[in-house]
Amino acid sequence: MVRQLAAALAERRQQGLYRSRRILEGPQDVQVRIDGRDYLSFCSNDYLGLASDPRLVEALKEGAERFGVGSGAAHLVSGHSRAHELLEEELAEFLGVPRVLLFSTGYMANLGVVTSLAGRGDTVFEDRLNHASLIDAARLAGAALQRYRHNDVDSLERRMSQQERGSRLIASDAVFSMDGDCAPVARLGELAAQRKAWLLLDDAHGFGVLGEGGRGLVAAQLRKSGANTVLMATLGKALGVFGAFVAGSEELVETLIQGARSFIYTTAPPPALAWATRVALRLVREGDERRAHLRWLVRRFRTAAAQLDLPLMSSDTPIQPLLIGDSAAALAFSRRLARRGILVTAIRPPTVPKGSARLRITFSASHTGEQVDRLVEALGDARDAAR
Ligand SMILES: *Cc1c(COP(=O)(O)O)cnc(C)c1O
Repeated sequence: MVRQLAAALAERRQQGLYRSRRILEGPQDVQVRIDGRDYLSFCSNDYLGLASDPRLVEALKEGAERFGVGSGAAHLVSGHSRAHELLEEELAEFLGVPRVLLFSTGYMANLGVVTSLAGRGDTVFEDRLNHASLIDAARLAGAALQRYRHNDVDSLERRMSQQERGSRLIASDAVFSMDGDCAPVARLGELAAQRKAWLLLDDAHGFGVLGEGGRGLVAAQLRKSGANTVLMATLGKALGVFGAFVAGSEELVETLIQGARSFIYTTAPPPALAWATRVALRLVREGDERRAHLRWLVRRFRTAAAQLDLPLMSSDTPIQPLLIGDSAAALAFSRRLARRGILVTAIRPPTVPKGSARLRITFSASHTGEQVDRLVEALGDARDAAR
């Protein structure tokens, strides 16, 4: 049996699909140290550069002093602390929504929402490029899963009109994690309202980064379209900490508390993390300058990359992938960059569709314009070396 595993692993390696971890010796930042070497990194989701911000480090220490380390129990037993409660209230207030519920991770939040709103006999409609956690959630719910063409509301509408039985849930990334483009949030909202379907929007990459005051791509839609819209966002990306939350109506949140198994049957995250996240939220609120700098970096990158004819994708978010196609070629490209001290990961199937391996470049507000120029120059050289 182990021999079968070894054979499968060998085949995976041969196809350029083998995955392995790098070990960071210090904090997440634009400069990271790996295996004794310094790299300029363009592959974290730490969009605002908060993951190692000294104010968050201080807040985490203070949280640990007040609340200890472990939460010691699930939220419904005795693990729900004042720190969690305050964070939920502050997130709800910031977004202008009735209620917010914390989850340990975004993966678990998506599982919790979808399995609570859909089950056997129901249908979940998902964009083909949705994050794996949304796909897995529909499978776990036992609902029929219909995947529509990427960002194609007409394709979604056709599928919905052929499927009138049971309750229906549309789920989409708001910003697509491997492509960087955005979902047509308003049109999805209209369609969901028309068809009396739930709409779950995953704003993992928009919250803190996009929208008015960093509220993301979805919050305004949720306030406008009201009770059939559900927002999920994470706290481990732009907020630089860890965890996730779901925002929506009072009834939705109470339903999740009563029934979402990925909420109920797991230990609450350390309260100190929630304490630190409150400070992260304050920094997001005060983050207009960081967000403006980030947009400036993205424009600078796209202009320079276009001049070199690099294979840009259509994204104006801090996720700026370069489409390579072949997995081995993407891996080789990433390795050439690493030799020049630049870290960009090659994203390969099954994370992205077959034949669409890419370099997933991401920017952080902590990058400088000069660092972006260095990246573009290295990308141009690495591309030329492959020709
Ligand atoms: C990262 C991510 C998640 C999962 O969130 P975690 O907190 O890392 O589990 C869910 N959806 C999208 C779109 C993501 O990018």
